[in-house]
Amino acid sequence: MIHNFGRNVSFTPEFCLTPRTEAEVLQILEDHRDKRIRVAGRLHSWSEAARSDEVLLDLQLLNSVQIERRAGRVWASVGAGCQIKKLLADLEQLAKVTTPSVGLITEQSIAGAIATGTHGSGKHSLSHDIAEIRIATFDPVSGQAVIRTIEDGPELKAARCSLGCLGVILSVGFWCRPQYNVEEHFARYTTIEEVLAAEDQYPLQQFYFTPWSWDFFVQHRREVQSPRSRLAGLYRLYCLLNLDICTHLSVIALAQFLRSRRCIHIFFRRILPLAVVRNWKVVDRSYRMLTMKHELFRHIEIEVFVKRSRLSASLTFVEQLLRYADGDEHAFSDTVRDQLLQHGLWESLAPLRGRFTYHYVICVRKVLPDETLISMASSDDEPYYAMSFISFARTDERDGFFCFAKCLADCLVALDAGRPHWGKVCPLTAAQADALYPHLPEFRRIAHDFDESGQFQNDWVAKVLFGRSDQRKGDPSSVHDQRPPQSPHRDHAENETSGVSGLA
Ligand SMILES: Cc1cc2nc3c(=O)[nH]c(=O)nc-3n(C[C@H](O)[C@H](O)[C@H](O)COP(=O)(O)OP(=O)(O)OC[C@H]3O[C@@H](n4cnc5c(N)ncnc54)[C@H](O)[C@@H]3O)c2cc1C
Repeated sequence: MIHNFGRNVSFTPEFCLTPRTEAEVLQILEDHRDKRIRVAGRLHSWSEAARSDEVLLDLQLLNSVQIERRAGRVWASVGAGCQIKKLLADLEQLAKVTTPSVGLITEQSIAGAIATGTHGSGKHSLSHDIAEIRIATFDPVSGQAVIRTIEDGPELKAARCSLGCLGVILSVGFWCRPQYNVEEHFARYTTIEEVLAAEDQYPLQQFYFTPWSWDFFVQHRREVQSPRSRLAGLYRLYCLLNLDICTHLSVIALAQFLRSRRCIHIFFRRILPLAVVRNWKVVDRSYRMLTMKHELFRHIEIEVFVKRSRLSASLTFVEQLLRYADGDEHAFSDTVRDQLLQHGLWESLAPLRGRFTYHYVICVRKVLPDETLISMASSDDEPYYAMSFISFARTDERDGFFCFAKCLADCLVALDAGRPHWGKVCPLTAAQADALYPHLPEFRRIAHDFDESGQFQNDWVAKVLFGRSDQRKGDPSSVHDQRPPQSPHRDHAENETSGVSGLA
């Protein structure tokens, strides 16, 4: 059985194959032309994106990194299964260059990362900068397995973020940028306006909306020409021990053992602020400064993207929803309540009230408009802001989180045209996807051209992206189906701990 990182998606494909060459990929396609075929990257998606019940390919052996110098610039051709951490290390070693952007972790494969529109902060998603994609698929005329190279036009925009629907990505090509240094320091603010005002000075910044104190910690970041700080090594150690390990162990203790609503409130109001050293300015290599070890502890996440013009309203709504989930009956303002009533969502929130105490910071990252058809930041005008919500509850105690995720997604879709990340918990329906992605019809047309019979789709993408009904039992687009079977006893907790995330 195959499990994803979050252990909320498990499946058993009929065939699990690890080709060593592109020729072997083509042969596998020929040998399984009557089967549905999907590729797994590093299985770091929480959505059903990588699920395959028939043939699953693992391209980890297609991981070469080759560079060429063309007219003073460096072009990289990278095997689809190459992990991002290997890619970054090879680029640094081969030519002192790096990728145009990077996400928070470097565990993903490059093809997996672009397939869901993976992003960092202050730049486009990784998908946006891909300039060439080679895909193995079936020729529509001869029916033979062939390799198609996509370099421009709407096909490139579709292939940059395609959730595996165009075929098997074999390699990607992109222009590298010279390696650079980033300066970082933390600061605390009380209003979103102050945070956004600092963006001009710190274009790469990301920030954390802190639950239960409802203020903001900002990781101010900018590209600088200065050399690496003398204390950069110490700063890295501080980040690893204090932020990546100790803070997370405290959150896990709160979520899995203490499970007290009051302790969670106190932790975020009084203890967490003490753990963050402010105004310590440090310069280090971009890939070290822009990433963290968020993969150290198993967790689950939903991330919703809203346009800049909707960010402030969305954060206000998020605060009210979290207070409501925590048991505050008067959490919603009259305006928000009226909007929810108008959209027919008010009643659907009732099961959430008093059921879930959020226990992590809400990380908010700016993503510049992507030239893609369906990545979450695909946009012709404004940048998007991605708000992420994480739970460290035990894997069999995530009911509260799933209920919250569904309510959050439905409300933000309706109120602020919020787009859930394709690679995280993604409870979108086909109708919602249609309304959110104006270029979805064009994406469908191109996908059909590459894969007429939908052989490279699974039930989840067939349903959400193509509006086709399920072939499996159940409803895989529902968050409740994105988890393994639950233990039966935990829906009955009634004491103070019962409101803590993951406990119903
Ligand atoms: C701890 C953690 C931190 C994360 N941080 C971030 C972050 O900072 N920013 C962000 O945006 N996301 C983040 N994510 C989400 C993650 O980047 C995406 O879910 C990404 O898609 C995972 O890549 P993967 O290689 O594991 O691919 P998988 O999850 O295995 O697959 C993702 C999709 O890619 C397709 N695919 C993979 N390889 C191929 C191929 N060769 N050809 C065709 N299709 C293919 C799969 O079929 C599937 O549809 C994080 C996830 C985790 C677990």
